[in-house]
Amino acid sequence: MLDTLRKLTLLESPSLEKPLLDRCCDFLADLWLGRGSLVHVLKQSVRGNHLRAVWPSSPSRRRGQLLILGHYDTVYPAGTLQHMPFRRAGPKVFGPGTFDMKAGIVQALFALEALQQLRIPARKNLVFLWTSDEETGSAASRRLIETEARQSDAVLVLEPALGPQGLLKTSRKGVGEVHLIVRGHASHAGLAPERGVNAIHELARQIARIEGWNDHRRGVSVHANLIQGGTRTNVTADYAEARVDLRAWKQADMRSLERRMHALKPIHKGARLELRGGFNRPPLERRHSSALFACAQRIAKQLGFRLGEAAAGGGSDGNFTAALGIPTLDGLGAVGDGAHSPDEYVLVQAMPQRAALLAALLATC
Ligand SMILES: [Zn+2]
Repeated sequence: MLDTLRKLTLLESPSLEKPLLDRCCDFLADLWLGRGSLVHVLKQSVRGNHLRAVWPSSPSRRRGQLLILGHYDTVYPAGTLQHMPFRRAGPKVFGPGTFDMKAGIVQALFALEALQQLRIPARKNLVFLWTSDEETGSAASRRLIETEARQSDAVLVLEPALGPQGLLKTSRKGVGEVHLIVRGHASHAGLAPERGVNAIHELARQIARIEGWNDHRRGVSVHANLIQGGTRTNVTADYAEARVDLRAWKQADMRSLERRMHALKPIHKGARLELRGGFNRPPLERRHSSALFACAQRIAKQLGFRLGEAAAGGGSDGNFTAALGIPTLDGLGAVGDGAHSPDEYVLVQAMPQRAALLAALLATC
């Protein structure tokens, strides 16, 4: 498993570098071809290609499909390996994208291999989908993921588990981003300030208003994390813009936040507001993961370990599939920590354990 993970990590795959992504995708295609799967490289014109690989269930089995979902792109630019090499130190392996989420892909490969070697037929068709743009919001894979999910009875997401205890992610916040744009009117700050409409003052009032919508107990967060505007200190600002991060645990809260955002009205006379964007990923609510999690916990007990669960404030492609009402269990990938950081690592001894957990889920759920 480590040898495969090393090869996969050495094929750097930053989300925006198509030639590198395609090379990594071809490597994955070869791995699944080598395990006798039907492999389709789904060509993309701008983003990296996606990989769809199918291991069919035996004809006597019940029909249906399980989707095993993940991404092979990483947040690290090309050349990161030079100062962040793939290396093992005691119980951990380090390297860009190992934890998020190349080790998860390797575990899925070995779960499939385990079923094949033990001659355990899959209960349903197994569709593995490895996409190239999750770290940038999945614009080029979302429709594909949703189409595949609609044909599936369940979705198992190989994103990393939470923390070194390896908690599965049974709920995730919905995540959105809106651009709040204010247009005012420029005027000489000394000669005719009364003729100006200050877009920055208007934006400041709007930000104070939306700040009041934060509700930490409900997990609703609204944060203006980026602002810009104005031209010079002696000119009334005619333009200002904020980029606002929105998060919520519940679909109902997500919808109400969006409604309130769109209902914002200008406070200063003459100011105009414009709103772009909204929620990109709807929440993954626990009701869509609870049955699968109970199944995974039973299997873990048989395998001799305790499996816990956690709620994650960040989104993944599992948010899309759960929002369609398809049972979705996330965090089935690597155990480790430090995603998107120079200290990203995977706990080596958990790799076969989690591969076994996945194999058993594929054979029984
Ligand atoms: Zn990820």
